Amino acid sequence: MTDKLYEARDRITGLLDRDEFQNKARKKIRSGEFGLAIIWFNIDNFKIYNEIFGYISGTTLLKETAEILKVIFPGEHNLISRFCDDNFVVMSSWCALEDNIEAVQNSLYRLHKNITLKLRAGIYFPSHNDDVAISCDRAKTACDTIRKNHSIKSCMYQDDMSSNLAQRQYILDNLSDAFKNGYIKVFYQPIVRMLTGKICETEALTRWEDPRLGFISPHDFIATLEQYREIHRLDIYALGQVCRDYRVRYENNMPVLPVSINLSRLDFELCDIFQEFEQATQINNIPRKMIKIEITESVYGEDMAGLNLGIEKFRANGYEVWMDDFGSGYSSLNALKDYNFDTIKFDMKFLSGFNKNSARLTTILSANLSMAKQMGIQTLAEGVETREQLEYLQAIGFEKAQGYFFGRPMVLDNVFNLATDTEDFRDAEYYAKLGKIEMPSQDLMHRPDYEIADVRRMALLELCNDHIEILAQNKNHEEWLNDIHDGEFEIMKKFLSRIIIGRTGKKFYIFRKGNCIRVNITPAAKNLRTGAQTWLAVHYDITRIPICPSCKHKPQDTYNCLSEILEGEILQLD
Ligand code: C2E
Ligand code: CA
Ligand code: CA
Repeated sequence: MTDKLYEARDRITGLLDRDEFQNKARKKIRSGEFGLAIIWFNIDNFKIYNEIFGYISGTTLLKETAEILKVIFPGEHNLISRFCDDNFVVMSSWCALEDNIEAVQNSLYRLHKNITLKLRAGIYFPSHNDDVAISCDRAKTACDTIRKNHSIKSCMYQDDMSSNLAQRQYILDNLSDAFKNGYIKVFYQPIVRMLTGKICETEALTRWEDPRLGFISPHDFIATLEQYREIHRLDIYALGQVCRDYRVRYENNMPVLPVSINLSRLDFELCDIFQEFEQATQINNIPRKMIKIEITESVYGEDMAGLNLGIEKFRANGYEVWMDDFGSGYSSLNALKDYNFDTIKFDMKFLSGFNKNSARLTTILSANLSMAKQMGIQTLAEGVETREQLEYLQAIGFEKAQGYFFGRPMVLDNVFNLATDTEDFRDAEYYAKLGKIEMPSQDLMHRPDYEIADVRRMALLELCNDHIEILAQNKNHEEWLNDIHDGEFEIMKKFLSRIIIGRTGKKFYIFRKGNCIRVNITPAAKNLRTGAQTWLAVHYDITRIPICPSCKHKPQDTYNCLSEILEGEILQLD
């Protein structure tokens, strides 16, 4: 077989993939071939194009671009590749280069006369001792510099564009040292359960404090490590550190919390990431359910069978997989359709410029929340900075929240020293069941066609050692309860304890102020550790009780009369 059959090709366009392109380009550069140019093409606003015209049209646009490149840069001496997403890279001769680039751009614009498309191009001329990855990077840097200038369609690389490049090179060169010397640390940010106000989990976030460059933001070193396909080294390091931190606390009989670890899509390609997790958890004797995996929303754009298999493998073996940054990109809903998640983390952008009176924000958040609950997925809001945001998110039914309001990322021990209590991790399953119950509130329904009767009063009642507590309730229930005075509330609690313990029925009636309410109660979840049992109570307004003529206008007689008709216990509050 010839070499050609082994060429690694991009699945969508059939062009060379990044690795294959770089192998071939490296050979050409090293051979000293004269007059080589690398051109980096990028389609402006491709994500928005996808969003407006759909994923299939987006794929078609990628294929069309590939076909045009093949026509304008024909023959084996030209190398054409799709690196990722909408990034195409060509190695060609510098002869007639600008005409060729213009021809590519014009051909694409002719195919899409009715919309405004822009195909940007960045050019770099490598010399024979240049590294191929850095050469491509320089072409990209040139391409990026004209992102905001709509009148310029192509640009050549200049040396002063590369201050960023120096930092990237530093990151790559010093990664191993940074691991070895502990310059890269894992910090933990608390995640709080709305139902109890306790810290129930933490998210592991890496920090690089470098003796020479100072603090390097994860946004910088993670982008670089992804670009140069070294990200798995960081993620495996973070995993190891998380496991070690956990074990130290556990072995010293200190409380522990589950931890979520950020993964990159590339981890599934660059190493056997599942096996890494298996090894790390086994060596440190950590139950799999204590380690969760976050994968960011932006990586689901392409149909990645491999990623899906990877996610399912983790889930089948007892690790939770969370979708990070939901709503930040263009493919959130597609990703939910195509992959299974245990938790959705709503992106913090939802909360920036937050205004609780914004009907649009409320509609978007509560509709997505409701969707998640119907799919049996847990919900977490990121970026909570104020009490106002917290109260709002709690009212619309978010299960968990994370953000500076509760604490910034910090060393693990400090999480346990915060004023906020931590949850016993054995209770997580119990609360997760309760968190999935939807309790819509009347005032959150901005739809004009909503009838009062559509939204019931609802409450979660927890019974533990004869003591009843309202764990959560919707606004409608809260308003009703506010109208009930303490004496009545105590009578109601006693009645509820009796009826729940005796399990005498799934419904009962409350008579009060001439109203009859039917209450349906259903068991919601049981906490095996504490023995607590929670019931969901839903109120139905049956009727305003008419005064019965034969009872001589006395409400008590009317109630007695009704009690005989209704089958079920009755709690009479007035
Ligand atoms: P992310 O996963 O979305 O993490 C949340 C980021 O938001 C963190 O930034 C956190 O410090 C910040 N944040 C948390 N609460 C608030 C808030 O209330 N307000 C504001 N304005 N920001 C808040 P950080 O630590 O800089 O991390 C940035 C991103 O880097 C993370 O975003 C994550 O995608 C990535 N990352 C961090 N560590 C790792 C890692 O070990 N591996 C991988 N693959 N990615 C990582
Ligand atoms: Ca995350
Ligand atoms: Ca996030």
